[in-house]
Amino acid sequence: MSPTIEELRSELHYLNHAILKLLNRRARVVTDVLDVKRNENIPLYVPQREMEMIRDLVGQNSGPFSDDTIRHLFKEIFHASVGLMEDRSAGAMRTSRAFHLTDQVIELGTERLGGDRPVLVAGPCAVENEDQMDIVARGLSSAGVSILRAGAFKPRSSPYSFQGLGVEGLKILRETADRYDMRVITEVMDTRAVEIVGEYADVLQIGTRNMYNYDLLREVGRQEKPVLLKRGFSATIDEFLASAEYIVKEGNERVILCERGIRTFERQTRNTLDISAVPILRRMTYLPVMVDISHAAGRKDILAPLGRAALAAGASGLMVEVHPFPAVARSDSQQQLDLDEFRHFLEQLGPLEKVGSKRPLLISGNAETCSAAQPLDH
Ligand code: PEP
Ligand code: MN
Repeated sequence: MSPTIEELRSELHYLNHAILKLLNRRARVVTDVLDVKRNENIPLYVPQREMEMIRDLVGQNSGPFSDDTIRHLFKEIFHASVGLMEDRSAGAMRTSRAFHLTDQVIELGTERLGGDRPVLVAGPCAVENEDQMDIVARGLSSAGVSILRAGAFKPRSSPYSFQGLGVEGLKILRETADRYDMRVITEVMDTRAVEIVGEYADVLQIGTRNMYNYDLLREVGRQEKPVLLKRGFSATIDEFLASAEYIVKEGNERVILCERGIRTFERQTRNTLDISAVPILRRMTYLPVMVDISHAAGRKDILAPLGRAALAAGASGLMVEVHPFPAVARSDSQQQLDLDEFRHFLEQLGPLEKVGSKRPLLISGNAETCSAAQPLDH
């Protein structure tokens, strides 16, 4: 005897409920997948995987629905799942580890920043003249340093202090570096100067005071050279990463994050080196992390232990200020090492490959727990 319309309707009703339960069960599995992916640093979206699932389902299809209809229905289900993932990961940024399996490595000449061996960046606070630059570059180069730092545009607390030599400084810096086959990192303070600084520098530095200068961040995001972004002296780690996001979002993924100390009540040091920022940043992003120990300390006598701590915590490199004659330096004279002191510092630091932490600092657990609960914009 064939079933009655009531029986058929009741069966449809039952099946609808079963499908609803299964759909929501599937959605829960999708969110579990999201959590596993985040913990294991697997990219969130893998389009091939969706195609494989559709192919498998169509292969299993024995009708009466056509293959096209099955494709259409499951695509809708997958689409809804992606929406669910996006809702859950709202705030997951492009600088996040979730988007990259491997660490970013930035090649600068023979050095690989973010690679196995920690990198040293050294040089005076500011370009002052040709002799000063030549002496320091020669000394640094013979000590094995191949990346030279020096400011041509100096952000100074007082408008009456030395503001840097500007474009003339860029020229001296480039010519000196070329003479010793060194790469150059120098600060850019103004959107209007990005182009000219880019002509002379290998890496554009954004200083601590400009970490919140979003126009400048966007501008350096639109050009080709790698960017060294300093953490704002009162910026949270989330704000720091949000600034890096501005650069990456414009298309420039070659960003180096630089912890340089934050302002606290402590007066023994110029800033307080936030060493925990290093493993936290390593955990949250794939970008290389450097530590500027000179601006953090503001003094020279504790640089070796700070450098060792930074490298042990997972920093990919150190920045140190070195001047041939610190006593007469036109800026930051109290914190710059002379060349002898720098060589002594290197001895105290020990062999870089030994001090540095080669192991990727991927700790199991959810990286999300590292970020503050409050929203970024406030
Ligand atoms: C610098 O590195 O020259 C500098 C000014 O550093 P910060 O922006 O970290 O103070
Ligand atoms: Mn300085």
